[in-house]
Amino acid sequence: MSCYTMGIDIGSTTSKGVILKDGSEVVSTYLIHAGTGTKGPGTVREELLKSSGLTNEEIAYTVVTGYGRKTYEEADAQLSELSCHAKGSHFLFPEVRTVIDIGGQDAKVMKLDEEGRMTGFLMNDKCAAGTGRFLEVMANILQLDVSQLEEEAARAEEALKISSTCTVFAESEVISQLANGADIPALVKGICRSVASRVGALAKRTGIEEKVCMSGGVAINGGVREALAEELGTEIEYSPLAQLTGALGAAIHAYERATAKERKDG
Ligand code: ADP
Repeated sequence: MSCYTMGIDIGSTTSKGVILKDGSEVVSTYLIHAGTGTKGPGTVREELLKSSGLTNEEIAYTVVTGYGRKTYEEADAQLSELSCHAKGSHFLFPEVRTVIDIGGQDAKVMKLDEEGRMTGFLMNDKCAAGTGRFLEVMANILQLDVSQLEEEAARAEEALKISSTCTVFAESEVISQLANGADIPALVKGICRSVASRVGALAKRTGIEEKVCMSGGVAINGGVREALAEELGTEIEYSPLAQLTGALGAAIHAYERATAKERKDG
């Protein structure tokens, strides 16, 4: 009989979910721009069940992770984002040894061994620079959606330098560059480079070991991926499931727990 498990990742900006069959086949995914403290997590469960045609009873085990995991009581277990991102990244890219996860309000760099176990990590959760928040603030000034930043950056012939490392000062800097008639694509490319240089510094402190992959919502932005690859002098692996990596890892942990329980129960 098939074993279905669910992983839910409640982030600061976005709730994500995955249903897996037998720990390896992605049956359905769902993502909503409503994070912790909203109805987002409940909607994720409902939509996952709807699109997979499964009932609550058919889900053998649910693991919840992410910033808002402690507020969600419908799961069988809560696990840290680090262990879920490590698990999900290893599943997507078994050869990856360095994972760079940039979310809505923090950035993490994880080192993995060949089994996908985490051997070290560094995190920035103190400063908005180098996170998705920085990109949201800048997109807002430019009257763009974060999803448009990639194509703007791709049109740039050069990158304008943003010298302030602080989001608030960088915001004033971008406003004054705009007032001086700066080229928008060049400005956007500079904004992507600014995020890459902050996160790149964090990654260099952990020591880069290839292969390297990106996870988290900011990974969707090819402008940041490209700038980070340049900054680190390495290729960056990317999956369209990048923003779902934590939820995917949670669903794999759920499968391991469900099957271990089955063995124990007989
Ligand atoms: P969290 O778990 O903290 O909610 P996520 O890993 O879901 O964070 O990432 C959210 C961030 O991803 C947003 O701040 C935004 O910068 C970025 N993002 C989300 N969707 C897109 C998109 N379509 N294109 C580019 N960037 C995106």
